[in-house]
Amino acid sequence: MVWPAFPDDVASRMLALQYQFEQSQWWPVEQLQTVQLQQFAQVFRQAVTRSPYYRRLFAAQAAIGIASWADYRELPVSTRREVQHAGTDLHCDNVPAAHGAVGRTESSGSTGSPLVTLGTAWTQFMWHALLLRDHLWHRRNLRGKLVAIRSTKGETRMANWGPATAAFVTGASVVRGLSMDIDEQLHWLVRENPDYLLAHAVNVHALAARSIELGITLPGLKQARTYGEMLRPDTREVVRAAWEVGLADTYSCEELGHLALQCPECDAYHVQAESVILEVLDNDGRPCVPGETGRVVLSSLHNFAMPLLRYENGDYAEVGEPCCCGRGLPVLRRIVGRQRNMLSRPDGVRHWPSFPSQRWLDIAPIVQIQLVQDALNHVAVKFVMPRDLSADESLRLTAALQECLHYPFRMTFERVDAIPRGAGGKYEDFVSKISG
Ligand SMILES: [Zn+2]
Repeated sequence: MVWPAFPDDVASRMLALQYQFEQSQWWPVEQLQTVQLQQFAQVFRQAVTRSPYYRRLFAAQAAIGIASWADYRELPVSTRREVQHAGTDLHCDNVPAAHGAVGRTESSGSTGSPLVTLGTAWTQFMWHALLLRDHLWHRRNLRGKLVAIRSTKGETRMANWGPATAAFVTGASVVRGLSMDIDEQLHWLVRENPDYLLAHAVNVHALAARSIELGITLPGLKQARTYGEMLRPDTREVVRAAWEVGLADTYSCEELGHLALQCPECDAYHVQAESVILEVLDNDGRPCVPGETGRVVLSSLHNFAMPLLRYENGDYAEVGEPCCCGRGLPVLRRIVGRQRNMLSRPDGVRHWPSFPSQRWLDIAPIVQIQLVQDALNHVAVKFVMPRDLSADESLRLTAALQECLHYPFRMTFERVDAIPRGAGGKYEDFVSKISG
């Protein structure tokens, strides 16, 4: 059959899900919340009957069930540490056969201790379906070439874009590990000449900045795609200046898959409400309103092997106003970071610091920088540069960073050969050793 196509079972299911997503994205928020709660009641029942952890944790609510959002908000929150500690007590002893094979995912985590989660063929399928939604939202040309730089090893070449796009004819894709330095990556990218580039946000930023320095262009590139790290405020501009393309960011975590995707019409993120309940809570546990930043608390709606319900993953996000595009999917204006990336000032103020690269590039030819707060009044600055800082540059850099951090921290500088990646191959611009 050449035309029209007759999709196989897997492709048909994928397209049927997209058809539903196409409708549900426009529903008013109340309609989304009604079906979310109905679906949550299903996964809640599975959790309290099949998982020892939730049988104990939700004992008070188990008999009555979850009939309203007030009931939902009564459920205790579990932190990442508590989930790690609970281990196999979170596993359900019976998973419906229709959900397919149970698989394991090991997530890196910023604390260095990995979190092992179980998923099913169904949760994996949902992950792929939301990736396809991202492609469709951004109207990507699936016939183009996709190049990804990931925290894997070696190089894998495929004739297609992988399982998410199995219902379509796609171009080729290449996945390459992070072992190359930025210059090697850049020259490799020039040879590959991709239509789409996917990599960690800090890596894309570094590639774009270096492209500008070397006058390198990627003529085939249509869009840069980022994941896995907080997007710096100036990364979009640097990517545009380097390659004359836009950037699409995604917010995901290894435990629950895609949490929010960038709106195709603006820079805000839409929560993937068909897959997850995402709350943003203030210090008193109340939902944040637009403009406020709080803790991200998540419930997976379809994981019947190891449900994570009211799970605090350690991220903080800012709630956005309803989106101009008209989609009812809840809006996050930005993902601001983790507690370990939060600056503490001696006057009691805490915030996520921002020090755009232009501030330090104006002072010295710094390739990369990392700030480590190791005391309430001290920040250690690690930097990669071909030579040492002059005394004058140190003074100017201190003043610039103090201004960005909104406090006259004492600063010491250390030139290093490289700034190592943390767990999962992620760079962190700012790390606090005192936040807890
Ligand atoms: Zn939107």
